[in-house]
Amino acid sequence: MNFNSEPIIALHQVSFTWPGSRQFALHIDSFTLHRGERVLLLGQSGSGKSTLLSLLCGVIAPQQGTIVLAGTNLASLSVTKRDRFRAENIGVIFQQFNLLPYGSVADNVLLPLVFAPKRRQRIQQGSNSMAEAQRLCVALQLPDQILSARTSELSVGQQQRVAVARALIGQPEVIIADEPTSALDRDSQQAFMNLLLGQVADSDASLLMVSHDPDLAHYFDRVVRIEDLQTATPQAEALC
Ligand code: ADP
Ligand code: MG
Repeated sequence: MNFNSEPIIALHQVSFTWPGSRQFALHIDSFTLHRGERVLLLGQSGSGKSTLLSLLCGVIAPQQGTIVLAGTNLASLSVTKRDRFRAENIGVIFQQFNLLPYGSVADNVLLPLVFAPKRRQRIQQGSNSMAEAQRLCVALQLPDQILSARTSELSVGQQQRVAVARALIGQPEVIIADEPTSALDRDSQQAFMNLLLGQVADSDASLLMVSHDPDLAHYFDRVVRIEDLQTATPQAEALC
């Protein structure tokens, strides 16, 4: 595939520190995710992978620099508009899956559609939301009747696939996954990656996945190490 296309995510000269924390800082000159591209972001625990994902999603804002998602500078949006924009454009698979414990699987899978009218409309052109949730659950090899189950009744592997269905519903342009395989053994990891990549390809999405595991590299078009993205900090330069 040719990735000279317009980027879906572009980050430029970004600096970020957590308020009150001096130990950790991100300084990234540039990072781009192209439409249709699958990128693995590698880094040790504590290296800032989840922080970078939060920046790219607009959950947190950098002190300096710009982050452009689907052609829109996130800093130009109010917090409310940014939340909606994120829901429209990004499906997120969190490390702990973040399913609602009190809801059914259907409640969880359909949740993004409440905040993302374009994702809802995309489904309604050909089907209805519940039928689409069912189609995704079947594609992800979840058992029959799972949509009416409580999420608290599910195994970890099932919760993970429900989190994938929730991220994919309504075909957001980008899927972001934060260490979704870290709790799995090798065989389950392989099965999961094949299902995830198959569904990402079917919905024409881009995928940015973070992990500390270099063995996952062969599933991706490109591998980026967070330490290679980091430029020298002004403090470090001053010490040289
Ligand atoms: P990774 O995902 O690579 O394990 P993180 O992005 O979670 O790394 O963390 C990077 C650094 O930022 C760590 O030093 C961590 O303690 C710090 N950090 C993460 N989240 C917060 C937060 N909400 N408030 C303050 N510091 C944080
Ligand atoms: Mg993390």
